[in-house]
Amino acid sequence: MAFLTLTNIQKSFGPVKVVHDFDMTIDKGEFVSFLGPSGCGKTTILRMIAGFEVPTGGSIVIDNRDQGNLKPNQRNIGMVFQAYALFPNMNVHQNVAFGLKVAGKRKAEIDARVKEMLSLIKLEHLADRYPYQMSGGQQQRVALARALAPMPQVLLLDEPLSALDAKIRVSLREEIRLIQQKLGITTVFVTHDQEEALSISDRIVVMNAGRADQIGTPFEIYNKPTTRFVASFVGTLNIIEAKVVDPATSRIAIGGQQLALKEPIASMKASEVISLALRPEAVTIAEGAKGDTELTGEVIATNFLGSVIRTRIRVGENVVSFDMFNSPGIRPPAIGETITLHFAASDLLVIRD
Ligand code: ATP
Repeated sequence: MAFLTLTNIQKSFGPVKVVHDFDMTIDKGEFVSFLGPSGCGKTTILRMIAGFEVPTGGSIVIDNRDQGNLKPNQRNIGMVFQAYALFPNMNVHQNVAFGLKVAGKRKAEIDARVKEMLSLIKLEHLADRYPYQMSGGQQQRVALARALAPMPQVLLLDEPLSALDAKIRVSLREEIRLIQQKLGITTVFVTHDQEEALSISDRIVVMNAGRADQIGTPFEIYNKPTTRFVASFVGTLNIIEAKVVDPATSRIAIGGQQLALKEPIASMKASEVISLALRPEAVTIAEGAKGDTELTGEVIATNFLGSVIRTRIRVGENVVSFDMFNSPGIRPPAIGETITLHFAASDLLVIRD
């Protein structure tokens, strides 16, 4: 059921349009990530939901209530920012209690709610600490507890993990997802980190220059990208140029080697050049293991990345990367060696934008 509805949202700063006709409905309890490069407009959309920016056009409705005439403090929204933004002169208890105090709650109720929130973020033992006495990860958990304490209808997270180091980032994102699911709170999360978005979202909006290029589940976004931008921004990808041989039977040629796509390309013309996407992990050199389609080329590079050895081969004008899983007996191919890649024809996707 639609809980948060954004209809035809636009935003311009002076003559510059930074969000174009954005439409989306988000269900109650859903976790939606806005993913995109710097400057694509994702924070601006979040700030419009919060009421910090006024849309140039369109409407925002939360639980059937138009937010248009509501100031930020009249909206029932909790927000966590990139910089921890805790009140430095207040301890953890006072920080988490802040929104409840402003709302005029009684002391007994505030104390009970703060206790509940600190237990949720597993920091009951730090209630008396001040922000400067805590790590970045702890401060962000307190910021989350502070945002959730007044029981907002919607939780907005603006790159809350990007100032933390890699290990803490992973553990905190899992904690955020668990808490979000436990409370069933509708959440919008902004990030430029694709792994982060893929790992914790129900749906992802991939933003490109103020527009949503694709909205879908992490599985759809990763496996079925609908635009070249999504295909290359999410995951590591081979973009392969091919020539159409026979549109009726989906036959194409890559570097002179013919193969048949699974997708229909009947609307294309013979000899037309098309772009195909192929993920490195869809490919193996073990015969028959991943499918019945082959490409042969010459090895031009191997990179040891720890768990995998990323290998590049040249096929005609194209360079195709693939991953070999590391194991004690592994023999990386030699530069100049000719090898054959095996994959399923259905993993070769036509990029149509
Ligand atoms: P980042 O990840 O860097 O925060 P973003 O995708 O969140 O990027 P936004 O912060 O939404 O991007 O900004 C979108 C565009 O709007 C950018 O080109 C930015 O320079 C511009 N912009 C944002 N706020 C303002 C403002 N107050 N005045 C003028 N331009 C702005």
